[in-house]
Amino acid sequence: MKKGKVEENILPWGGQMVTVQKKSIKNIYLKVLPPEGRILLSVPQGYSRQEIKDVLDSRRDWLLSRQEAIRANAARPAKRTYVTGEKILVWGKTYELVVREVPGKTARVVCQGDKLLLSMPGYATQEQRRQVLHDWYRYQLEKAVVREKAQLESLVGKTAAEWRFRDMRTRWGTCNVQARRIWLSIHLAKQPPEAFRYVAIHELTHLWEANHGPAFKARMDRYYPAWRSVRKQMNARADFE
Ligand SMILES: [Zn+2]
Repeated sequence: MKKGKVEENILPWGGQMVTVQKKSIKNIYLKVLPPEGRILLSVPQGYSRQEIKDVLDSRRDWLLSRQEAIRANAARPAKRTYVTGEKILVWGKTYELVVREVPGKTARVVCQGDKLLLSMPGYATQEQRRQVLHDWYRYQLEKAVVREKAQLESLVGKTAAEWRFRDMRTRWGTCNVQARRIWLSIHLAKQPPEAFRYVAIHELTHLWEANHGPAFKARMDRYYPAWRSVRKQMNARADFE
């Protein structure tokens, strides 16, 4: 099949400019691009201005929330290097990192007062220290899911077949509705516990409603009335390093 040409336009929407590409495609693709959170919408050729506006309006909450998260992340200061004295977030609390070299082969992470002790065997690179901490964040989340999933699932009235974790930097969670598999970003373990609950409930609610339309929001209001303010706070302090 011949590749169709792309027609690109910049359209105003809700006080911002959106890049709209018309292509020979069957589906709609909507993206929010880092670092400034520009919206890119690809639609099939023949889409009218009104249809484009309807697509954007129907995804408004998702778009604004993604932009908030992306901008908060882009605005962060210098990168962490995982050395003693750095500030590390765990479940919404700030700890001072203390890195120690220890004999043996096993790395360990322990919270002690307001310190987070990272014991590394022998010489460890920045990447290895980051990896150990990320593994530990993953373990924190696994424990939180084990502890809370029965309660969260009974609240929503849906059960996930599987909860999994990965180093996602542009979103807090995703839900594969067909497989009933929920993915959570390991960076959620830096947020306060209510942020973890909000994201878990949000992803479980996708097992009722695939998109973020009014029915989805009505359910969120029922299961977790404070979700809007929790989302706003978590995006304002997003940390995906
Ligand atoms: Zn969602």
